[in-house]
Amino acid sequence: MRTHAQAVVIGGGLIGCSILYHLAKFGWSDVVLLERDELTSGSTWHAAANIHGLHDSTNISRLQHYTMALYKELETETGQGCGIFQPGSLYLAQTEAREHQLRLQEAKARRYKMNFYEVARDEAERLHPLVDFDGIRCIMYEPEGGNVDPSGVTAAYAAGARQRGAEIHRFTPVTATEAQADGSWIVRTPKGDIRTQWVINAAGLWGREVAAMAGLQLPLIPTEHQYFVTETIPEIAAMGRRLPSVADRDGEYYLRQEGLGLLIGAYERNMKFWAEEGTPLDFGHELFPDDLDRIEDNMVRAIARVPAAGTAGVKRVINGPMIWSPDSAVLFGPAPELQNYFCCNGIIPGFSQSGGMGKLAAEWMIEGEPSLDMFAWDMARFGHWAGKAFTKARVQDQYSHRFKIHFPNEERAAGRPVRTRPAYDMQKQMGAVFGLNFGWEHPLWFAAEGEPREETIGFTRQNWWGPVGREARMLREHAGIIDVSNFAKYEVKGPGAEAWLNALFANRMPTEIGRSCLTPLIGKRGGIAGDFTVTKLADDEFRVFGSGMAERFHQRFFKAVPLPEGTTFRSRTEDFCGFNVAGPKSRELLQRLTNADLSTQAFPFMRSRQITVAGVDVVALRVSFTGDLGWELYCPAASQVELYSALLKAGSEVGAGPVGSRALMSLRVEKGYGSWSREYSPEYWPQEVKFDRLVKMDKGKFLNRDAYAAIADRPARDELIMLSIDAKDADATGGEPIFLQDGTPIGQVSSGAYGYFVEQSLALGYVKAGSARPGDKVSVAILGRPHDAVLLSEPPFDPEGKRLRA
Ligand SMILES: Cc1cc2nc3c(=O)[nH]c(=O)nc-3n(C[C@H](O)[C@H](O)[C@H](O)COP(=O)(O)OP(=O)(O)OC[C@H]3O[C@@H](n4cnc5c(N)ncnc54)[C@H](O)[C@@H]3O)c2cc1C
Repeated sequence: MRTHAQAVVIGGGLIGCSILYHLAKFGWSDVVLLERDELTSGSTWHAAANIHGLHDSTNISRLQHYTMALYKELETETGQGCGIFQPGSLYLAQTEAREHQLRLQEAKARRYKMNFYEVARDEAERLHPLVDFDGIRCIMYEPEGGNVDPSGVTAAYAAGARQRGAEIHRFTPVTATEAQADGSWIVRTPKGDIRTQWVINAAGLWGREVAAMAGLQLPLIPTEHQYFVTETIPEIAAMGRRLPSVADRDGEYYLRQEGLGLLIGAYERNMKFWAEEGTPLDFGHELFPDDLDRIEDNMVRAIARVPAAGTAGVKRVINGPMIWSPDSAVLFGPAPELQNYFCCNGIIPGFSQSGGMGKLAAEWMIEGEPSLDMFAWDMARFGHWAGKAFTKARVQDQYSHRFKIHFPNEERAAGRPVRTRPAYDMQKQMGAVFGLNFGWEHPLWFAAEGEPREETIGFTRQNWWGPVGREARMLREHAGIIDVSNFAKYEVKGPGAEAWLNALFANRMPTEIGRSCLTPLIGKRGGIAGDFTVTKLADDEFRVFGSGMAERFHQRFFKAVPLPEGTTFRSRTEDFCGFNVAGPKSRELLQRLTNADLSTQAFPFMRSRQITVAGVDVVALRVSFTGDLGWELYCPAASQVELYSALLKAGSEVGAGPVGSRALMSLRVEKGYGSWSREYSPEYWPQEVKFDRLVKMDKGKFLNRDAYAAIADRPARDELIMLSIDAKDADATGGEPIFLQDGTPIGQVSSGAYGYFVEQSLALGYVKAGSARPGDKVSVAILGRPHDAVLLSEPPFDPEGKRLRA
């Protein structure tokens, strides 16, 4: 066994082997995989191993398609069979919402030239004569859907990796991982130690235990999961071909051919956790006792849809463990608190995603950043707040509603509240309906007396649409008070504060006390890793404000630039709360509570002051994400209720009141403002989001300056545009494809909202550079159906910024 390696992968399941293969393929041949037992000894060996390409997230769809194509390449490349069957998959919609979901996916497939389209009932009956299609509203077909052989695929990755020089050691458990001062690691095993630059935790069911060796807590918990295989079904035996799989998600089961029978699996409501406190180290190639009673309801629905399934006996039941994260997506990426420690844990549809995960993991470690924005997978989306109770409640909800549609604005209640601010109870009494943002409860909107406080969910406009419109109009006509406490807030102090910020961010930092700037943070490929507001409070003190949900994500960047001697950086997100007071009467409102002069002359746009509002010391910034006249006020958390009460009281005297974050979303879209993870992501270059003016190449070195220099002169690939859409009962929400009128796909929506003040359904989006101009008519596939839209030349609200600067 080597004593030194570039990377050590812990775990020889499907995912560990894929990562090893991709590391070797992308150029690191001195890589080692350590497996405590035989390969596939965790969840992998007993999986149903279904594969499919479509996912609600476009980037995940792209990675699933990559994975499916890779299996065929692996067979050719290694000679190892992957047991690939691709008889296709039929997706059935029993409800209107499911139909909307499938039609939207079909439109996305057209945009990305993926194979997924609608078939008529007679065609579906020809494809799968054993399905009863009664009550089905629409049927989609994915010709490449199918399944693979779990051991075959894992062995093929392993063979491909070995061919490229990677080493695999079976029966070699990792017993410790020790971080070294130089950033490398020592990985200990009974057969010897390896010093390595990177450690990769791909320990599947034991992901928690392996993470704990490095001092890391991962929000994961295993559950049981069952499927069964029937005896031979004569109709199938007589068919002479393989039948497509059936994705009847409203029926809450999956079903496909296995041998000459059927395989049926279910994510039952009455789910069962396993090994909550830790996965036993001696658990091997084992299964749990059958418990088909638990999935009886799902079986009954499957048999009603495919009656032949009920005619054969059960040949085999598989009840095995799988391990889940709180939102059922992988915990992926370098652990922000550690050096060179990569996680890839909690994978559910591993067989659809293994290739994509291996590829992105290798890109991230070798090139410094993945080629696609994968915040949806990034382990940094959860923080310390995602503890055991939260994880358990969320996993229970995820498992038992595995096939439920995830609606765009849906806020699931499980496990909440987990983090609240002092004003939470007060907001609750005021009728707030809350959402979850990086663990925090924050008001989405406020129900009036007599209005329901429960949101309905769906792809169309829901019961919050009216109240949110009321808040947005109130703010535009008078003023509104928005709790923006969940913005990330950082404090940089010390003699080197300005130099450090200049070495981190792309814009030139303010030199004058009381000035602020907007700045991008540049990623390893020259894209937008973040957007921040920085304000100078004193000669040696700055405050930085950024996206709250990206706080842990941004840690990786902050720690990449060493702090100068005597200078400190710390997150103040938990210590401080914030309110955005905005709207044409916001000055009048605030002036009732402060002696500070708020006139434009004394307090211009983009300036900050430390003032007292209603007796509370605040840092006030004249900025507003609403695009209207406004201030953001930041106070100690202990003063939140006091400040809020005063603002609301003064607000009531000028026709203002509380406004939630959903109205803020609409207001910022009216003004054409982009937002982190939607418009701004590492996938887009500054020149594509009109941020190039904020990148100051003449100020000296800053983080990833060279990466930006390499792409700075390249023309934009995509353009950020704004659309007004002819929509009646559903607005765009993000992800909807954009087509030219002749059906040519040119881009997709990044954010959508109804602009209540301008009375238009609006969207921001990206289109291929040069493919459309302001005034051009295009089509947006809301609910998967074409909706006429026109490209706007400027935001419909206050394009000249007169109100902002009033
Ligand atoms: C019943 C069932 C059906 C499923 N059906 C499907 C399906 O149809 N489609 C699909 O895509 N997915 C399916 N899955 C999920 C799929 O099995 C997983 O996504 C996948 O196997 C995860 O692979 P992994 O490599 O992350 O983890 P694992 O397979 O758990 O592998 C982890 C490996 O790490 C090793 N290891 C752990 N600790 C150490 C250590 N300290 N030192 C060295 N090695 C260590 C283990 O021995 C193990 O081999 C199913 C799962 C179950 C349970």
